[in-house]
Amino acid sequence: MKKILIGLLALVSLAWGWDLLLNTNPSGGSLLWTIRQEGLYLTGLYSIALMSLSMLLATRPTWLERPLGGMDQVYRLHKWSGILAISFAAAHWLVEWSSDLLKATIGREGRIPKERLNGFWEVLRDLAEDMGEWAIYAVLAMLVITLWKRFPYQIWRLLHKVMPVLYLMLVFHAALLSPLDYWVQPVGGLMALLMAGGVMASVLSLTGLIGRPRQVAGTIASVNSSAGGVTEVTCQLKEGWKGHRPGQFAFITFNRLEGAHPFTIASADRTDRTITFQIKALGNYTRGLAARLHIGQTVKVEGPYGRFNLARCNPRAQQLWIAGGIGVTPFLAWLEALQADPKNAPAADLHYCTRDSETDSFVARLTSLCATLPGIQLHVHGSQQGESLTAQTLVTDLGRAKRAEIWFCGPQGLATALKNQMTSTWRGKLRFHQEAFEMR
Ligand SMILES: Cc1cc2nc3c(=O)[nH]c(=O)nc-3n(C[C@H](O)[C@H](O)[C@H](O)COP(=O)(O)OP(=O)(O)OC[C@H]3O[C@@H](n4cnc5c(N)ncnc54)[C@H](O)[C@@H]3O)c2cc1C
Repeated sequence: MKKILIGLLALVSLAWGWDLLLNTNPSGGSLLWTIRQEGLYLTGLYSIALMSLSMLLATRPTWLERPLGGMDQVYRLHKWSGILAISFAAAHWLVEWSSDLLKATIGREGRIPKERLNGFWEVLRDLAEDMGEWAIYAVLAMLVITLWKRFPYQIWRLLHKVMPVLYLMLVFHAALLSPLDYWVQPVGGLMALLMAGGVMASVLSLTGLIGRPRQVAGTIASVNSSAGGVTEVTCQLKEGWKGHRPGQFAFITFNRLEGAHPFTIASADRTDRTITFQIKALGNYTRGLAARLHIGQTVKVEGPYGRFNLARCNPRAQQLWIAGGIGVTPFLAWLEALQADPKNAPAADLHYCTRDSETDSFVARLTSLCATLPGIQLHVHGSQQGESLTAQTLVTDLGRAKRAEIWFCGPQGLATALKNQMTSTWRGKLRFHQEAFEMR
């Protein structure tokens, strides 16, 4: 992810630098005023380039799943390019305001004169300036509520839908206020390309077309709830569902007003277009979900997405599969898929971490699925039973293995702790794959 962000910033810097080299101080401004002017352009270019990338990623481009490692990673890049874009927009705004400071300290002399256009364009440029300012205030507010994790997700999600409109305002600002010579330079070509992509993405978002080709209608075939606050929902999907690979996820809409939520498909591809979800009551909507669902209810499913895929396990690497809590869902799909050919199932240690192993209903399900798979060793860690999983346990599992792979789905805290400790001991020999259950 870092490489892509740095790569894009480097490309923009090169294009900007090229323009600067060809136009060495043509307006005769003083050094400080020139630095201020170029700082204004560069921060603006960074911001609109990153925001365009963020908009493009919001269209859920499945072709990027392979190079980036899954849709959760596409969303991660979308989030961080958005955060960086807004930070540069804030810097751009500060540089703009620095003009008052410069006037007060070094005076107006050496100031770079504004490009003069005819009356109509001047009116448009004034409008673009105002629009940019309003949009910057709005995106800054968006950044604050994005980073403030306690802000209710549903309200955040509604407000987030305004982002394409704010982006279009910023494109208008950037297109009208960029220096005219940019449009005959590589920097203009690069910006035009990025902004055209971003505008297309905004239109797709505003017209509700994102993900439409992957949406299929269906009905609920069964609903069951367990004592642990988990609801099992099986859906019968209509023609058009092309199946899924074990470990993938889908966006499911039970209620049009509530909108889509992402859940892993916790079953193998049964080829009859039935899929099962295991949904834990983790928040406002999922709490009490079972009471709101009934057999025959229509649903909309969009997917499948994701690369947390059993087929990607490297047979030459020792396999460690780690599930934390509801992060067990992709592994349920893997184990169900392996039942079709147990003899050829890979060898793996499956660690399931739960709060209370005595009452957790997934323990019985995992035990029964693993009973037919001789290569899979199930280890259950109940924290109330004092059996927490540590990196030391995993190191013991790995023994003298030359190469290892960890497939992890569970709480971020556990992922970070295990990843840090394991990769420092097993540097270069261990690959860590993770499915993130968080998109914000
Ligand atoms: C790829 C992926 C796979 C997942 N698989 C499962 C699964 O198999 N079983 C399971 O129980 N949970 C799964 N989750 C988590 C599940 O999506 C959230 O727990 C659920 O959406 C919470 O909704 P809520 O309104 O009850 O919670 P809230 O209290 O409103 O939100 C809690 C958190 O859930 C996330 N969230 C809420 N609504 C959405 C939404 N519409 N879209 C994206 N994220 C949202 C946000 O991170 C939010 O901070 C998965 C998440 C992802 C990203």
